[in-house]
Amino acid sequence: MGKILLVGAGGVGTVVAHKMAEMPDLFSDIMLASRTKSKCDAIAAKIGGDRIKSAQVDADNVPEMVDLIKSFKPDLVVNVALPYQDLHIMDACLETGVSYLDTANYEPPDEAKFEYSWQWAYHDRYRDAGITAILGCGFDPGVTSIFTAWAAKHHFDEIHYLDIVDCNAGDHGKPFATNFNPEINIREVTQKGKYWENGQWVYTEPHEIHKPLNYPGIGPRESYLIYHEELESLVKNFPTLKRARFWMTFGQEYLTHLMVIQNIGMAGIEPVLYEGVEIVPIKFLKAVLPDPGDLGANYKGWTSIGCRIKGIKDGKEKTYYIYNNCSHEKAYQETGTQAVSYTTGVPATIGAMMYLKGLWKRPGVFNVEEFDPDPFMEQLNIRGLPWTELHDVDLEL
Ligand code: NDP
Repeated sequence: MGKILLVGAGGVGTVVAHKMAEMPDLFSDIMLASRTKSKCDAIAAKIGGDRIKSAQVDADNVPEMVDLIKSFKPDLVVNVALPYQDLHIMDACLETGVSYLDTANYEPPDEAKFEYSWQWAYHDRYRDAGITAILGCGFDPGVTSIFTAWAAKHHFDEIHYLDIVDCNAGDHGKPFATNFNPEINIREVTQKGKYWENGQWVYTEPHEIHKPLNYPGIGPRESYLIYHEELESLVKNFPTLKRARFWMTFGQEYLTHLMVIQNIGMAGIEPVLYEGVEIVPIKFLKAVLPDPGDLGANYKGWTSIGCRIKGIKDGKEKTYYIYNNCSHEKAYQETGTQAVSYTTGVPATIGAMMYLKGLWKRPGVFNVEEFDPDPFMEQLNIRGLPWTELHDVDLEL
């Protein structure tokens, strides 16, 4: 029996609320709180059965968050608002002595940069307060990190080469839309590329390195090397890695739109003065782009995300590929959201389950790969994200 305060009523929050509501024995009390209360109420009404309570909160306002936590008294706060809120919610959890879980690492609003240093800096304070922070419990980061931990535990003596491959082969029928929060998404994919090799970071121009990769059940898709946050914790937690990279597929139409958006300054994060009012171009762009939460109804096709790993087992070189394919249509039928929200919300729910069951409960701040992957992997198969393993195959990389 556990009480959850879920923060953020977007696509991911919708999935977490649906999934938790299905398990009343474990998630006995769920409160969904967000900036816009009507969105929480709409999600709660759709789920029905009085399973979800709702509240309005500005998660950037620490005293407001503290009051909400004190009045609801959750066992765990699950943060699926935006990365900008991470530190404020972590502060409120620290002040109230409640554990924390999120799916994306902190980003300062005024600088398009994400890294774990800000959140790792809370480790000693969380340890001393006897509470747990579980960082990055979505799909990537999240399941990809747990896949890596599972591979290292069960299939290798040492892992040497890791390539995380993320393919969205879905079609939503719009000329341009992002699959999760447009502001966060565009900030992420327009950054310089970066990967780990021989003990150091190697930098590339955005989308400079790309090649076609074959995805199971989908076929070849052009895949671009980008920097992704789980690389930072994985190279720290698996020091045998000689190289770690992240690849994501983009269609040509998406890239052309992205280039135009950047060239005309609409991806800017500095405020500009428009008719006497300060506006941030990328925030304005978010307001006119399709809401990722509304893409689900017409979304067809699959996502395929996994890890391709090379290393040593019993003195011999071995290759291994573990992945999940998720259908946009099936995700929509079940939760009313597309597969990108679904593949993030299901792992966040399982992470909360791991915490409530006492399986992932340790004082301090941890990335998901630092916990035992086995019970989590078992739940992925049960809760809608089954995985497949391929041994000794051509990794193409
Ligand atoms: P959305 O933009 O759909 O939803 C974000 C929600 O947070 C909105 O309901 C928004 O409120 C709310 N919110 C924003 N600011 C505040 C605030 N100050 N106080 C309270 N609530 C606030 O995003 P998604 O659901 O697509 O993504 C949620 C998170 O999941 C993001 O952090 C994203 O980076 C992460 N993510 C992680 C992935 C992974 O695999 N690890 C993949 C995809 C996403 P309002 O409705 O008023 O705007």
